[in-house]
Formats: sequence, C-alpha cells, structure tokens
Amino acid sequence: MGRNFMRLAAGVLVLLAAGCGPEKSPPKPRVVVTTSILGDWAGRIGREEIDLVVLVPPGSDAHTFQPTTADAAAIESAALLISVGEGYESWLPGLIEATRTKAVQLELTRGMSLIEREEEDHDHQEHEGHEHAQGAEDPHFWHDPELAMQAVSEITDALKPLLPGREKNLDQRSDAYQEAIREAGEKIRARVAALPPERRKLVTSHDSFAYFAQRFGFEILGNALGSLSTEASRPSASELAALVAVIKDSGVPALFPETTLDSGLVRQVAKEAGVAVAPPLMAETLNPPGEPGSTYLEMLAHNAETICAALGLKK
Ligand SMILES: [Zn+2]
Repeated sequence: MGRNFMRLAAGVLVLLAAGCGPEKSPPKPRVVVTTSILGDWAGRIGREEIDLVVLVPPGSDAHTFQPTTADAAAIESAALLISVGEGYESWLPGLIEATRTKAVQLELTRGMSLIEREEEDHDHQEHEGHEHAQGAEDPHFWHDPELAMQAVSEITDALKPLLPGREKNLDQRSDAYQEAIREAGEKIRARVAALPPERRKLVTSHDSFAYFAQRFGFEILGNALGSLSTEASRPSASELAALVAVIKDSGVPALFPETTLDSGLVRQVAKEAGVAVAPPLMAETLNPPGEPGSTYLEMLAHNAETICAALGLKK
C-alpha cells in the first residue's frame, strides 16, 4: 500500500463526488444569443448541454427589437453572450449595461472582414439608435456560407471553456455542421451557374444581401429603403424615381421583399418599374419552429431558390 494506492483512492473519491450527487446534475451553462440564426448555430454545437436563450423571437426583426426585463435577466445569468455586433443589435449595449453580467461576450463580426456599404442620403439619421452611418460596415454576414462557417467555428471555441471535457464532441459536431454549410453553399453556386450572368441582379427591401451578392456573383442594384437598417425612414419620391429608373434600365425581372418587412414599398417600386414581386426573402431571422425555413440551412436554400427562380431560372 503505497503512495500510488492513496492517489488512486483520492481519484475515486473525486469521481464519486462528481458523479453521485443524488439526481443533482450541475446546472447547464446559459448561452444567450441575439438572433434565431445564431441560436440555430449555437444549438447545433452545444445541443442539450447548454441552456440556450434566443432574445429576438424567430420571425421578428432584430433591427427594431424591443427588449424586456426578461431579456435583461437572461443576460444577467449568462455565461456566454453571442451577438452579431457592428451596431446590428442597436438595443444590446443598453441592455448589457442594465445588468451586472459576467458573461463572456462574443461579437461574431469582430473577426471578419466586412463589406463597407454606402447608405443613400435620406434622413435616416434622425432615427434614434440607428447606428449605421454613411459608409457603414454591413453586419448581414450570414448570407455568405463561408462567413457562417467562420462564425460556427468561433462559437465552438467559445463553448469549450463552458463544457470542459467535451471539447472533442464539440469539434466533431462543429466539423460536421460546417461541412453541411459548405455543401449548401456549393449547391447554391451550381444553381446560380445556370442563371445567365446578366440576370444576376438584386433589388431588396433594405440593404441586406451584399454578402450573398459578393459570394455568388450578383450585383446589388439598390434597395427600396436605401439603408442597411430596417429602421430607416421612407425614401423621398426622387430617390424612389431614381431606383425605378435603374431597375427599368437593368432589365431585372423581379424585386425581392423580405419576410419581416411590409412589402408595400417594394410593391410600389415594382409597379412603377413594371416588374414582378418575388416571394419574400429571409433576411434577418429564421421562421418559427415547425415552419419551412426554421433552420439556417433551410433559410440559405430558400433564399437562393427564390432568387434564382424569380430571376428566370426554371427549376
Ligand atoms: Zn438588416
């Protein structure tokens, strides 16, 4: 009976203490995310091992979200807080300030090379909380599958300290999911390849598809709101007339409203330009669970299919 035995015995005691708490498992680390897209990603990596809270409900617009005290409470007790950043969640800094949260904060856009977009010059700056000034960085990175893979990888790394001993499992799930995203991106590329290059032109409700355009070779002709944010005010008659002229000139056959926005403005522009209105794109959020488009991969497929179909590709 030497030192080795004592060491072994001590080890067994530690194991017993960890494993035997009568039906008392350690509390799951709380992971708070802002949008349903981030929630889908975090949930696929952390699964039932994390206590996942999504602040902006699926189907709602994160630009205009109004947080409640329940949201502050969720952040207060979070171990990890994941957001898009770059002013996308204009309501988040104030919400964090209202708590004493010790959560690790992961802003996914921080490590990315972002697209700089020009805002059109109407009075959007009158809106409080609107953080997108002219020449702002575009936060809508999730429409590029490769940036989504980068985000999933960062989320995986951020979850590891919360789930010690589970690193390998997290990596396995992350690798498999990133592979699924990569394959979805390849499918889109193949679909787009069948679309004549002169038809690869997008007009949306607000400026939300620049990353999709950059990745898959589309040109952004303009957007009805003339803004990176849905909080923007209505553009002037002359701005709309200019957009109508660009659309007529381009020969683009359809415009794209978005699921979380009233389509009135897009319909008006489409009518004046004499072009069709496509089914709405999913720009900001997943659809509620149980509906088509309730996962990130479904959202990618829906948007690509809607765009390619409306711009003239037969299925
Ligand atoms: Zn947006």
